[in-house]
Amino acid sequence: MIAKRFFYLFILSLALISCESPRSHYVRVFKSIDLEVNHNSQAHNILNGICSHFGPRLAGCEKAIQSEEYSSLLFRSYGYDQVFFQPFSFTQWIRGSASLEIDSAGVFRPVPCLALAYTPSARINGRIVDVGNGLIEDYSGLNVSGKIVLVYLGLLPGTPAGVKNMSRACKLSFAIAQGAAGCIAINQEPGDLPVTGSASFDGQIIKIPAVSISYNRGMQLKEQLKTRSRMARITTNHTSRPVTARNVVARLKGNRFPDETIVIGAHLDSWDISPGALDNASGVASVLDIARLFKSLNLQPARTIDFVLFMAEEQGHYGSESYIEEARHQNRLDGIRYMFNHDMTVSTYGFNLMCRYESDELFQEMGLLMQKADTSYANSLAHFTYLGSDHAVFIFEGIPTFTPLNRYEPTHTYHTTGDGPDHITSGMLESNVKLSAMMLYVLADAETLPANRFTPEQVRQYLIDNNLQEELVISGAWIWD
Ligand SMILES: [Zn+2]
Repeated sequence: MIAKRFFYLFILSLALISCESPRSHYVRVFKSIDLEVNHNSQAHNILNGICSHFGPRLAGCEKAIQSEEYSSLLFRSYGYDQVFFQPFSFTQWIRGSASLEIDSAGVFRPVPCLALAYTPSARINGRIVDVGNGLIEDYSGLNVSGKIVLVYLGLLPGTPAGVKNMSRACKLSFAIAQGAAGCIAINQEPGDLPVTGSASFDGQIIKIPAVSISYNRGMQLKEQLKTRSRMARITTNHTSRPVTARNVVARLKGNRFPDETIVIGAHLDSWDISPGALDNASGVASVLDIARLFKSLNLQPARTIDFVLFMAEEQGHYGSESYIEEARHQNRLDGIRYMFNHDMTVSTYGFNLMCRYESDELFQEMGLLMQKADTSYANSLAHFTYLGSDHAVFIFEGIPTFTPLNRYEPTHTYHTTGDGPDHITSGMLESNVKLSAMMLYVLADAETLPANRFTPEQVRQYLIDNNLQEELVISGAWIWD
């Protein structure tokens, strides 16, 4: 009798499940994601583990190789059976020593500095010339030949509205083209820490030495230069070598449209001088925790999901390029419907759809349902496109890309020695894990998706419309003419 009653209850619940409207299905899944993350999230443990076990993990180094192994084991421990590495080769820059001395009343005094990556070994001295933001128009009327340019890496207060900032590597290429002998780059983030980052477009050693100094030192130096000219000495000693690194991929096969893929990715590497907590253990911990909860909740979406931990993003997006090449080789590129990038993802309050306006309606509508599960969700959508992370190589292929919208604290810094785990709380990571997992589920399971892959002509127009053509022409990466 009891067995019979259970049988009827079973049939009734089956009927209820099959009658469930898509909206209530999503709300149910979102609520289960919210609950799961509240009780079981591992994101904060993963972030702490990556920073304490491996610390700085420059792609191609021993610690980076160990972090590849560790994350593949984590994916397997969640129940993924399709976990694989994608090896690739590139030129790794190896930091040696760097020193900067600036004359003060005739005496050269050392100033704490960090070399920008792909700086050569050199020993130079010259007069310092302040070139403001270091954009091409800042050089007009200045002769910097044989001199050391002082470049602000951001946009200085008072810069006219509408002026677009350029990448570190672009600013270095302007200095080189103007005949500068060296470069002192000012960290745009206030504080006492110099910053690193790649000064090269293509992983080749650049022509002049470039070191960075902290915002505070830089602003002080700019003031001093107004009243007296100063000389500087830069001494750098670096090498490079060919190395191999590996992306780590965990694949969840779609149950209805297995040939269509949503890629969710984060770069696992960091700079050699940084624990890389915000940049980018935060993104890695998020992607791993999202992968974990999909298995924990037994979510089986229609499309395939590739959870990808890219390597060598910092040194030049080599891992994401390698992922694209492998997808092209396997005829999977056309099936990639979205790329969802997680680079420095904490305290998520919405999504940046990067000017793929076709996606607005779906995201807005689903955001309203997500608010039913997480009432703190702001459901903000933004549109700004930049090329400074792994999503860029997907943009070049016409694949719709987007990222979470994140709120940073004043203590959050990147590419410095200060990017440690203490500044990141579990709540900051969990907001990203929850909301990103919900949106990932929607994209992986929706019957149809609003955005399609652009043709090369559409990519060209998109890059022009988003003011990215100039940067790509300067870097030699403009291929759309
Ligand atoms: Zn990053």
